[in-house]
Amino acid sequence: MNNKKISILGFSADENSSYLKGCADAPPIIMKAFNSNATNKFSENGIDLGMENLWTYQSFSKIPSGKKGFQLIRDAIYQELKTGKQCISIGGDHSITYPIIDAYNHYFQNINILHFDAHPDLYDNFENNPYSHASPFARILENNLSKKLIQIGIRTMNHHQLEQANKYKVQVIDMKNFESNIKLDFNGPVYISIDLDGLDPSFAPGVSHPEPGGLSTRDVLSIVSDVKEDVIGADIVEYNPKKDLNNITAITAAKFLKELSSKLLA
Ligand code: MN
Ligand code: MN
Repeated sequence: MNNKKISILGFSADENSSYLKGCADAPPIIMKAFNSNATNKFSENGIDLGMENLWTYQSFSKIPSGKKGFQLIRDAIYQELKTGKQCISIGGDHSITYPIIDAYNHYFQNINILHFDAHPDLYDNFENNPYSHASPFARILENNLSKKLIQIGIRTMNHHQLEQANKYKVQVIDMKNFESNIKLDFNGPVYISIDLDGLDPSFAPGVSHPEPGGLSTRDVLSIVSDVKEDVIGADIVEYNPKKDLNNITAITAAKFLKELSSKLLA
């Protein structure tokens, strides 16, 4: 398993959420589920994340909105990558992915992004906030920070975002065309971004923008497990504890954290 180490970073950020706040409270709740004695720390491919020194956790509370928040997140990721660690970020809303990918571009080339979401998050300008959680992939693509973006689970595509998707040659796998044995074609290192609302609300009710007719937890786990290329980092975003039921979304986020960690270590 070599000397790889995971850095888990909790970003308490929801200033760029357009509809509801609450995602800022997510990181400690996901970590509590991750560390809960209700489960063990073995991933499905047999890596024991309970072993010492495989991962560290740091939390960044009260991330400011706009450029200041962007810089804080980018610098935090940059510092961890500099020491050779691999980062998994816990949101926070989806706005955190843009500064994270910006930092990754200092260390990696030709980054492919595998993005799970009900929403394409490609708005050129949403409510006059370039850092909006509805726009991270527009910012990433217009700045040439990703060579290839594959979106899975999309079921809210509108005219504007379809134009954006075509303009930036995004591979959109709409939920209505989704098949669970899907084969994906990457060309370079892969970063994985999981917006929990990509899941069906029955699997993940604790989100600000629930959209019925989505992915199952197993769909996401299988697709992640099937990625053959180097996975270089990941984020889990949009958990809103205010909307959760019986903690199920936190437990699901913690499951993704466990499986993504083992994918990065493998
Ligand atoms: Mn979403
Ligand atoms: Mn999103």
